[in-house]
Amino acid sequence: MNVIGKVTVLPRLPAAISRLEELAYNLYWSWTPRAQELYSFLDEAVWKRFQHNPVRTLLEVGDARLTEVAADPAYLEKYRAALADFDAYMNKKDTWASTHATELGEAGKGVAYFSMEYAYHECLPIYSGGLGVLAGDHCKSASDLGLPFTAVGMLFRQGYFTQLFNKDGWQGETYDELDLTTLPVRPAKFPTEDGTVGDEARVSVRIMGREIILRLWTLQVGRIRVLLLDSNVAENSEDDRKLTARLYGGNQELRIQQYLLLGIGGVKALRAMKIGSSVYHMNEGHAAFMALERIREQVAAGHDFRTATEAVAAATLFTTHTPVPAGNDAYAYDLTDRYLGDWPTQLSTTRAELYELARQDQNWDNQVVPSFSMSVFALRMSRAANGVSKLHGEVSRGIWNFLYQGAEPEEVPIGHVTNGAHNLTFLAQPYRELFGTVLPADWTERLEDREMWEAVRQIPDADLAAAKRVQKVEMVDFVRESVKTQLERNGASAADVAAAETLLDPGALTIGFARRFATYKRATLLFRDKARLARIVNNPEKPVQFVFAGKAHPADNPGKAFIQEIFRVSQEPEFRGKIVILENYDMNVARHLVQGVDVWMNNPRRPLEASGTSGMKASFNGAPNFSVLDGWWVEGYDTRNGWPIGDEREYADLNVQDDADAFSLYRTLEDAIAPLYYAQDAEGQNHGWLETVRQAIVTVNPEFSMQRQVIDYVQKYYLPLNTRSQKVQEGGDALAKSLGDWKAWIRQQWPFVGLQASAQLPASVQPGEQVTVSAQVNSAGISDSDLRVEAVLKRGEHIIRVPLVSQGQGRYEVSVPLQDSGLYSFGVRMMPEHAALSNEFELGLIKWA
Ligand SMILES: *Cc1c(COP(=O)(O)O)cnc(C)c1O
Repeated sequence: MNVIGKVTVLPRLPAAISRLEELAYNLYWSWTPRAQELYSFLDEAVWKRFQHNPVRTLLEVGDARLTEVAADPAYLEKYRAALADFDAYMNKKDTWASTHATELGEAGKGVAYFSMEYAYHECLPIYSGGLGVLAGDHCKSASDLGLPFTAVGMLFRQGYFTQLFNKDGWQGETYDELDLTTLPVRPAKFPTEDGTVGDEARVSVRIMGREIILRLWTLQVGRIRVLLLDSNVAENSEDDRKLTARLYGGNQELRIQQYLLLGIGGVKALRAMKIGSSVYHMNEGHAAFMALERIREQVAAGHDFRTATEAVAAATLFTTHTPVPAGNDAYAYDLTDRYLGDWPTQLSTTRAELYELARQDQNWDNQVVPSFSMSVFALRMSRAANGVSKLHGEVSRGIWNFLYQGAEPEEVPIGHVTNGAHNLTFLAQPYRELFGTVLPADWTERLEDREMWEAVRQIPDADLAAAKRVQKVEMVDFVRESVKTQLERNGASAADVAAAETLLDPGALTIGFARRFATYKRATLLFRDKARLARIVNNPEKPVQFVFAGKAHPADNPGKAFIQEIFRVSQEPEFRGKIVILENYDMNVARHLVQGVDVWMNNPRRPLEASGTSGMKASFNGAPNFSVLDGWWVEGYDTRNGWPIGDEREYADLNVQDDADAFSLYRTLEDAIAPLYYAQDAEGQNHGWLETVRQAIVTVNPEFSMQRQVIDYVQKYYLPLNTRSQKVQEGGDALAKSLGDWKAWIRQQWPFVGLQASAQLPASVQPGEQVTVSAQVNSAGISDSDLRVEAVLKRGEHIIRVPLVSQGQGRYEVSVPLQDSGLYSFGVRMMPEHAALSNEFELGLIKWA
């Protein structure tokens, strides 16, 4: 049949359970096991076959079954309780936001969050890994906190790929066409004045002269809305219909078009749906083109390009996630010309001025060539930027230091908010119930409250151990079933299939390792000394077993080779049944593993793990983290809540680093983790181990909750940007205009400024003595009040900045007291100064004497 369209007809639900449909279309259920049970109970097999998708389950089960449960008192009781919880959640008035962040909702218009990928649930595979989980979790906590918040993303109808291993353990990829009509998304409708249902919402984006139509879908995540863009509509050409087919597929040409659709289409979608926003959050450089459309709007409203740019950037936050320079998308100018060719005209500017805002010189084929960098553009188009952990903030300041030449690395204006994870999405039901016995009734609303979590220490050893056992047995069953399916598909012998039934020992110390198989994550580090590993795994008193899972990007052959190596090791006699690798790592596999294992392992090559979040999810569930001191773990590790791998340092020689880390990993397993796990006290319990488990739960749940993370974003960035943007736009963009003009004037004059400085420095001075520093400035016509001339003193890591005072005629001077003893280095520099700058380094103009 030639399908011209599809329509879903949901069953007519019996009145007693009529709200199952409404609930199915709100991803509130994705972090609420009690709500999920209402659907899994209808038909467990259907529920599992269709990736725990409530909409699909309702479609499949049939009227008879629905009528049956509608007359089942036990079911109805659960139904009423779950819906009462849902209503209480949706109608809550005293949310965190209503008491803490009113400015965002009242004076402002809320936050618009743009991300290329979102992981909300396994039935909606529009994510590849940690970045997506982070974005999905961010939305869920924005909902929990009651923030005025809208997310924008793409509805990839073939999603990311499904991973299947062949019988040699090589990763294959399949792409299934999602049937959107069976997913918990709905076509968005244009809002209407009179409240009637509007037409299906569409916007269009012009790329290379083609008008590409995007259909808008709505995904409801608790209280917040997500708008998803989809180019697969009949009006588009065959090629254009495929633009939103796959996440991270194709070449640079496809990517740049997807970024244009996300950024430009996303802003148009917000406007079409009449959703206001006063703060815009770019989650990774993919979203940077949102600035183009927002500047275009301002230019169309009569502003010049510079004013428009100031106004747009004032309201924008950029979060970078990439700790490797090469991981940032950057385009050669010929490619950029093809896709952005008509933008300078639309923005009333020149190609040179626009490209300069994104310029990064690359060393491509041994030639230095300029490129259009998405991350540079994002940095220039925002007035606040952050990395995703303390260490990653530092690494990012180093990577982008070249944009702020003359600034010390620590002065680069990129801060950090350490990532978190959405506790309830990953917390196993037995733990939720157990925590509920000691925590206050409203604990799920105060997840970031450190003090509150202390009560978990009161949970008796036996209860804590029992809850873990339930989870672990479930995880082992899940692993066995998954491996069995894989073996059957690959035509394995009956004996091998049967052997899958006995994989892993639920009584043995079980370590999980699952993540994207990017090579820097060193998935095979464990196998550096296989003889030693064999002794650890096969220790008769203290056996250790490992479960691996993870996808490599389809184009990443070294990553796929890692998967194959683990697969092969898992087939060797010494490791059979004790090292297992699961296929198709997704949110479902992730949940089973973080909930069921005893320890979570992570051994990236420091400092390349920007944050990592899977270890947080494991710790939420009492599986302490065992990891390289990178990303979040440098901050999270407190000596009692898990174990480090290696030291807090980097190495010049990667081989040496791998050896050192592998050695540390084995030794900690042998000397610390296994002995503690298997120690028994007089009561037959393992109190020492459970103390570590408690410490992990109590310390990691609040500090690395997504709720803490989103609150940090609100306080550190959203609220200040909201204020800033209102100020800049006051009086018809008066400040934006004067700031834009001022910057242009400064940039024009800057090449002509000059600075000479001197200091009378004796070889040594006593603490408290003063040193006089003076400078002679040629200001090239820039007024004194627009310049900051300062002495910079470095003592070790400390930087002391003392402004010089103008004496007239370009002469500046100051006496600098030297309070503390030590070796000081002196310098004098100057930079433009203006009260409305987000910081002194905003222009990246710094001149040293
Ligand atoms: C949490 C999660 C990740 C992130 O893993 P890290 O190792 O912390 O980067 C990736 N994929 C899935 C499915 C996850 O749930």
